[in-house]
Amino acid sequence: MPATDHKPRLGVWKFASCDGCQLSLLDCEDELLRVADAVEIAYFPEATRSHIRGTYDLSLVEGSITTAHDAERIQEVRRRSRTLVTIGACATAGGIQALRNFADIDDFLTAVYAHPEYIETLSTSTPISDHVAVDFELRGCPISKTQLLEVVSAFLRGRRPVTPAHSVCLDCKLKGNVCVTVAHGTPCLGPVTHSGCDALCPSYNRGCYGCYGPKENPNAAALSERLDQLGMNPSERLRFYRTFNAWADPFREESERHES
Ligand code: SF4
Ligand code: SF4
Repeated sequence: MPATDHKPRLGVWKFASCDGCQLSLLDCEDELLRVADAVEIAYFPEATRSHIRGTYDLSLVEGSITTAHDAERIQEVRRRSRTLVTIGACATAGGIQALRNFADIDDFLTAVYAHPEYIETLSTSTPISDHVAVDFELRGCPISKTQLLEVVSAFLRGRRPVTPAHSVCLDCKLKGNVCVTVAHGTPCLGPVTHSGCDALCPSYNRGCYGCYGPKENPNAAALSERLDQLGMNPSERLRFYRTFNAWADPFREESERHES
């Protein structure tokens, strides 16, 4: 834990997001009380009205950058944060809203809003790490509360968080799941997706949707070959990679290979 004369100050910041990752922190229930005892919750609008201004020992940042105002605000958050951790697919990869990055933002604005002239937005949704230095990225849509508690606890003890970097497939094997792709040809992103959900979808006989983003060194090209053998055409393969982590490099690059 950093040497200070007060409890470590925690700030929880929201950018473009659905709040689901902040809810994972509130969902910690009993553990949240222990966290609240170990830190001073200095800024967390979803949980408390109190706002202690100044600097923060740990900032958890949810959401992506989609407006010029937020691009400035994240610089201020970084300046005031000793350690900055991004939480969730929006903050680490741009989120589902990064689908705009593949299209013309004006087309979306005119299709969705009666008065698009009132909307001030950037043409892209980008991860926090594109704008400021990030000390640790916690993936998932939403994040795992177990992994979140590990990150907070590692920070309090002054060590690096330990979160697995293997694929969902390994979790499947550890749980003794029957592989949905092998057993009945269901497309599954598990081989290229970061662990974190405890293989939730394959455990219910469904393919993985890639909520936790790309694992380290994913072989997406090999998976695409298998998807091809399963009968997915290029347009279906493109859409397969373009969900919550569409703008994460390995998924973006693989989806673009199927664009033509
Ligand atoms: S990563 Fe998913 S759950 Fe978290 S804020 Fe973004 S959309 Fe919501
Ligand atoms: S079901 Fe999906 S995640 Fe599980 S082993 Fe098969 S390919 Fe991997």
